[in-house]
Amino acid sequence: MRIRVANAIRQTGESFSFEAAEQFSDQVYGERAVSFAEPVSVSGTYVYDGKAFTVSAKATALVNTECARCTKLFAERIAFSFSERFVKGEDEASDDETYPYSGDELLLDKAVLDNLFLELPIASICREDCKGLCPVCGADLNTTKCDCTTEEAWE
Ligand SMILES: [Zn+2]
Ligand SMILES: [Zn+2]
Repeated sequence: MRIRVANAIRQTGESFSFEAAEQFSDQVYGERAVSFAEPVSVSGTYVYDGKAFTVSAKATALVNTECARCTKLFAERIAFSFSERFVKGEDEASDDETYPYSGDELLLDKAVLDNLFLELPIASICREDCKGLCPVCGADLNTTKCDCTTEEAWE
């Protein structure tokens, strides 16, 4: 996902808007694998201050995930916003707070994916009232009833 920013380089301090979308390949964040059900869409603004770009944007992603209760696969929509600085590659090398760029294009992929990761819930559930699986027989309690005796029944 790239945005062309030559116009902003010529007009320091001016804010320009952009929209972009990209179908990302699967990502692995630590132990969590994420695949995308549709292109991630991003819209926002970029401004050049003479040294670096500030990109402020809103993004939405639809990620394929597994319900933590019933293990059903479903797509979860995740909306997030971010504001990041992009500094010309050679000038400031390894700075955790900024992203590098070169030429008159900003490559947004890493900023988008980093911020998406921050928004990912630790455990996703397919719906608020998902009943999950029976701990005894493994039946999906959303669709079946089983006769297992669980501890709750003794209360
Ligand atoms: Zn579920
Ligand atoms: Zn059961």
